[in-house]
Amino acid sequence: MSEENGFGSEEIQTVWKYALQNTLEYDGEGKAGSVLGRVLAERPDLRTQAKKLLKLVESEVCRANSLARGEGIEEVRLELERIDPDALEREKHQKREGLRNLPGDTSRVVLRFAPNPNGPLSIGHSRGVVINSRYARKYEGKIVLRFDDTDTRVKPPLVEAYDWIREEFEWLAGRPADVVIRASERMPIYLKQAEKMISDGHGYVCRCGAEEFRDFRESKTNCPCRDRSIQESLEDWGSMNSGEIQEGGAVVRVRTDMSLPNPALRDWPALRIQHSPHPIVGRQYKVWPLLDFQSAVEDHEQGVTHIIRGKDLMDSTRKQILLYEHFGWKYPETLYWGRIKVHEFGDFSTSGMASSIDSGEYSGWGDARLPTLRALRRRGFVAQSLIDLWEEIGLSQKDISISMQTVESFNSKIVDQSCERRIFVADPVSVIIQSDKNPKEALIARHPEGKISGNRKWEADHSVFIESSDFSQGELRLKDFADISISGSVASIESEDRSDDRPIIHWLPEKMCREAILFVPEGEIMREVHGLIEDFELGVGEVYQFERMGFARVDYIDQDLVKLIWLHG
Ligand SMILES: [Zn+2]
Repeated sequence: MSEENGFGSEEIQTVWKYALQNTLEYDGEGKAGSVLGRVLAERPDLRTQAKKLLKLVESEVCRANSLARGEGIEEVRLELERIDPDALEREKHQKREGLRNLPGDTSRVVLRFAPNPNGPLSIGHSRGVVINSRYARKYEGKIVLRFDDTDTRVKPPLVEAYDWIREEFEWLAGRPADVVIRASERMPIYLKQAEKMISDGHGYVCRCGAEEFRDFRESKTNCPCRDRSIQESLEDWGSMNSGEIQEGGAVVRVRTDMSLPNPALRDWPALRIQHSPHPIVGRQYKVWPLLDFQSAVEDHEQGVTHIIRGKDLMDSTRKQILLYEHFGWKYPETLYWGRIKVHEFGDFSTSGMASSIDSGEYSGWGDARLPTLRALRRRGFVAQSLIDLWEEIGLSQKDISISMQTVESFNSKIVDQSCERRIFVADPVSVIIQSDKNPKEALIARHPEGKISGNRKWEADHSVFIESSDFSQGELRLKDFADISISGSVASIESEDRSDDRPIIHWLPEKMCREAILFVPEGEIMREVHGLIEDFELGVGEVYQFERMGFARVDYIDQDLVKLIWLHG
């Protein structure tokens, strides 16, 4: 094993171990993404080198897969046993990652993605879109995009967010949802079901105060409202809907059992009074369902067969199963995933972002410092990077903390193939080129490996700009151009061919320059780097890889200025 890529034999051995383990698990078709995850779990100190590490992982996975192809899978097992018998043992207990099969009847699969439209989608939401839409594709099933917008008080919907989310869904899923519904438009259905529940004696109107009911719940005692007649409950139901009872004055509860061991399930609240107007349906309803009730009824209405939700919502499942029993419905198959924390974006919530935007702390939902999909897209992330990420993580119930570097390494792999190269010279210094045998032009490849054919043609006959940090007296090489020697502010060309190992720097001819600012999100700070960009076929929305720097996307162009947003290294 060579010590290429700058990694030592210990790191290479670790990568090799997980590559073998993964190849075994996937019958000769190991995947780099899951190996990278395991290597980083064992060696979090390598996170800062994730991109470089991915290259090593890819080559080791490739080597393990070809060992399996050439010598057979048994040979992979023997090799793993030889280098790390424990890893072989673990392999037997390891669950397959990726999208495992859905349980139950999968002949007619209906899934749903149900965000609250109180803002656009964030990176965390993207998991729900990706996993559900991939399953819908796998089983040729349907997917419902449902806006859970019945909370007008704590998380009021943002009118623009409905269209944003529809579009973001399509961006990630690669197609529109099969059905799009807004819960607020479906209110008559929920209210009708609530009334039926009361009429059938499966629910009742409770007029106890919140604290009063808490005491009943804790002491496993029926509240007085529970034993009133159905008729009395229905009268109160009427007063709730007509607006005679104020907010907080009554709720509709599902009649379960006040002695159930899990307190959350004891006569749980299904609908409450909200007099605040809804931005779409206005003031026409006084009683609104809580999420557990609304979602349960709508899942049934849409024929949802499989629900995929966070394991923190297991109580919702339990509550809804009790409701389904009352209605005589079959509850969907339910799968859970653990929480994902994106290390760099730990503290963001949609409502928190909304107020920071209102206060002017951020320029909008697309501010490059935010974890919204709008911001990620504005920086140049492609949908496939998130699809790859979530497919690799799959439906693990473990709580996982990931770093944006993982997303970046997926993205980098994709955009590296499709992005043209350009030059950005930060904090430029002008140098006068002096030579009798001055080459007048330089031809520089659009893509170094020829993934995009053709060249950029530069005229380089007078002065050029280099970065102030590269400027020094003496010998340098202007990349793809010439060896120079700088004296004062004059550079003499010594040779067009590379003649020695002098440092190679990037540069720009004066005629090819436009002023530019690169915006680099760094936590809460937006750092501005002023410089010059190569003026060659620039397009707004294009992502370029900048020499010796990394990827950035052109956000804005006018006559005087180009604005770039940093993507990743
Ligand atoms: Zn009560």
